[in-house]
Amino acid sequence: MIDDNFGKVVGIKSVRFTEFNPGQKSGVVSDGGWVKVNPHDPRATALEQWWSGVDNAVTFTNLSSSVGGSSLEKSTQVTMMQLIHSVEPSLNDTKGVLSEFTARLVRVIDRRRDEVLLPYYTACALERSTNDGSRMMKCNKKIDGSGHCASCGLVPEEKRIKRWMVRCVFQDFTGANMILQLFDDQFNPLCGKTAEEAAGQGDLENFLKGSAYQGLFKLRVRSKLDEYDGKFRPRHTVTSVQKVSGADMMRHAQNMIDEISALA
Ligand SMILES: [Zn+2]
Repeated sequence: MIDDNFGKVVGIKSVRFTEFNPGQKSGVVSDGGWVKVNPHDPRATALEQWWSGVDNAVTFTNLSSSVGGSSLEKSTQVTMMQLIHSVEPSLNDTKGVLSEFTARLVRVIDRRRDEVLLPYYTACALERSTNDGSRMMKCNKKIDGSGHCASCGLVPEEKRIKRWMVRCVFQDFTGANMILQLFDDQFNPLCGKTAEEAAGQGDLENFLKGSAYQGLFKLRVRSKLDEYDGKFRPRHTVTSVQKVSGADMMRHAQNMIDEISALA
């Protein structure tokens, strides 16, 4: 059973239904029965996935930003709960795992205690040749407070550009929250502007609220263990974000209506 306002699954075991008055039924939980919200049960997960509805409705087209992987690399459909409770503990330090899930962008983290966290960093726009020397491309490395790039040295003012680095809080239908950083490749298409353009408009906070927050997104993440202070910790890198379109939602709603009609 699903509570449709909150998207929670309520599991009920051993309930006896009796006719109360004509047309009215009453349920009593018997000895050994229970009522649980979001029970840890494969049937509950299946129900949630069916309800969340977008598991198979959307296919990724943007594979260009996949981190070091081919477009043929397989990813697994998960919930955020599974990502936290199953994928994370299963990681080893050599191999990453690709997963996909659907979530809402709840908010952007713009503060750490009293410190303001800008949603972008300043990058070096000097042209450098690629490793194989075949072509030139922007360096894109972070520029430090004194205007220096680790590779290019002092960067002239006009070659310093802002690139998105947005700390996003995503939430899926299981209620789990996860902070994921989005960079230019993912955040540009999501909000429709470069960080440079958005910062030039002034009120960044309002811009971010107005442009990026609506809707449901399908995310692909690569999960890996990263070494930090001699310890390995799970790290999730977003390789692709795609907005779930109104058409996809409608198609799914129609599928659900068809399934419900078939039950009747
Ligand atoms: Zn540089």
